[in-house]
Amino acid sequence: MVDARTGPAEAGPYYLPTGNEVEVVEQCHAGGLAVMLKGPTGCGKTRFVEHMAWRLGRPLITVSCHDDLTASDLVGRFLIRHDETVWQDGPLTRAVREGAICYLDEVVEARQDTIVVLHPLTDYRRILPIDRTGETVEAAPGFQLVISYNPGYQRMLKDLKPSTRQRFVAIELDFPEPAAEAAIVARESGVEQGTAVALVELGGRLRSLRDRGLAEVPSTRLLIAAGRLVASGIGVRDACNAAVVSPLSDDATLLGAMRELVDAMF
Ligand code: ADP
Repeated sequence: MVDARTGPAEAGPYYLPTGNEVEVVEQCHAGGLAVMLKGPTGCGKTRFVEHMAWRLGRPLITVSCHDDLTASDLVGRFLIRHDETVWQDGPLTRAVREGAICYLDEVVEARQDTIVVLHPLTDYRRILPIDRTGETVEAAPGFQLVISYNPGYQRMLKDLKPSTRQRFVAIELDFPEPAAEAAIVARESGVEQGTAVALVELGGRLRSLRDRGLAEVPSTRLLIAAGRLVASGIGVRDACNAAVVSPLSDDATLLGAMRELVDAMF
């Protein structure tokens, strides 16, 4: 069966590479190396990991990190069930046992004391010591740790410690170049190529507003959202204002400048 969003099932989740990231992650997987994906929100990091898990034939276990995430949320905890205390593996432990790809999205959101549980998995030992049970789990073949973060976001407030960073092979991802981004927008949203090209051009112009104080610039994801609205019959200006302009800012001056760009383009 063909899924309009991802393409034929045998091709796996659709991902258009922007460089040699597919080969690099394949080699890291073969060599037991952990990977760090750096790049702005909505540039394709999650889709890339989904694609790689499919390519490598491994299950994918994803954890969205946040500042309440504890080491127990990752590793596991004792639960009371029918008057009995039973151990339940967390997502990281499951991935380690199953030889899955474990993807920690927006890892800088997690506290440092949560992140340190990853350390023994990222060196030659590839082990996960579980303090609560005394067990040491050796990573099954195929296990790989992938983390992602957006280096532009809250740069001053949150950052990975050097002792964590140096355990990962870093891959920098960014928005694809215009022709590739238009192909992605057309494919993912169902708009015709000409509209996709125009949406990407608008995206490029809006991204240049970064210098005028726009903190988050429009991602490929937002351009796809606008494309989906257009494909469903919404006028292109309305679609761009609703899906691209409004989500980016509440500042009246910036919103005005962005709407002018939309009006000038369509
Ligand atoms: P991130 O994890 O970086 O925030 P996502 O992987 O969720 O971003 O990307 C947002 C959407 O953009 C995806 O669902 C996909 O539709 C599309 N996308 C972005 N880059 C690519 C790419 N290189 N190939 C295919 N789809 C892409």
